Amino acid sequence: MDPTTTFCPNVACPARGQTGQGNIGIHSCKDKRFICTECHKTFSATKGTAFYRLRTSAETVSLVVTLLAHGCPLQAIVVAFGYDERTVAGWVARAGAQGQAVQEHLVEQPRDLGQVQADEIRVKKQGGIVWMALAMMVCTRLWLGGEVSEQRDMPLIPDGLVSSIRAIRETFRDPVHTGTGGRPQLRPWRHVLLAQVVKRSERRRVVETERRMVDGTPARVETLRRRSQGEGVINTAYIERLNATFRERLASLTRRGRALARRTLTLQHGMYLIGTVSNFCTPHASLAQAGGKTTPAMAAGITDHCWSVRELLSYHVPPPRWTPPKQRGRPSHALKRLIERWCGDHG
Ligand SMILES: [Zn+2]
Repeated sequence: MDPTTTFCPNVACPARGQTGQGNIGIHSCKDKRFICTECHKTFSATKGTAFYRLRTSAETVSLVVTLLAHGCPLQAIVVAFGYDERTVAGWVARAGAQGQAVQEHLVEQPRDLGQVQADEIRVKKQGGIVWMALAMMVCTRLWLGGEVSEQRDMPLIPDGLVSSIRAIRETFRDPVHTGTGGRPQLRPWRHVLLAQVVKRSERRRVVETERRMVDGTPARVETLRRRSQGEGVINTAYIERLNATFRERLASLTRRGRALARRTLTLQHGMYLIGTVSNFCTPHASLAQAGGKTTPAMAAGITDHCWSVRELLSYHVPPPRWTPPKQRGRPSHALKRLIERWCGDHG
């Protein structure tokens, strides 16, 4: 237990989310609890992680989640370990929620993306199919994020998919802070070039591939693409490999599972689990540098080492920084005296 790397998770505390301020002490080694001297609240060392209030050991849960994240069928886990299917489903949900928090905190931040590839995959679940859109940064193989949808946004048109282009245009926007408060307006990125690859299939084989420009000129795309990825035409090779990984691993997560497969939320948890394990815990052969294994998160400069799944599940995502409430008018002297009288002794 290290108080110097721990922060107060209490959202009502002014020191919340900050490390190295000296406000955290050890409350109990036996119960693994810290105390914050700012708000005087104690909290469990696992608060804010996937292991919070779990009865099963972190080792066991990490092992099971590692297997699931790599495509081991849920039924195999149930049989091999003797856990109830709902228990394992609960761990998947925790791991997925944790993955989402880590992804939002560490990956979904402004960065220079270079070439991004995005695609939609069709995922079977009990009672129908859903669509999952995935995006990745090509040069680091970083999974940037995804969306699960019961339906494609717009009806499929024969020679291309309008909805995915609209989705991309809506995704790549920056908040514009106007200083007037409220939600910032979103402004589309200016230097985005969009190329679309449309594949027409017959009996599961691609019979025709068409490349078209949506924004920008072909020459400009070609220049940028060459700079980021060497030879070849506009391609979808990287996202297709990622799609295959997600499709295969999600299939084993949702196959036959009564507790799991029914809900779209389960697929979202599965997506975050698979995506963050790929980003943080999986060295990619194509990223290998001299003398080291490199994960996409390392290639993107987010971390300096390959994480274990246990590390991913126990990463503490800090709450947003505390900001002092806006003062509306000046408190009257009477109010000030009242506050001093009632609260002065307590600091
Ligand atoms: Zn506190």
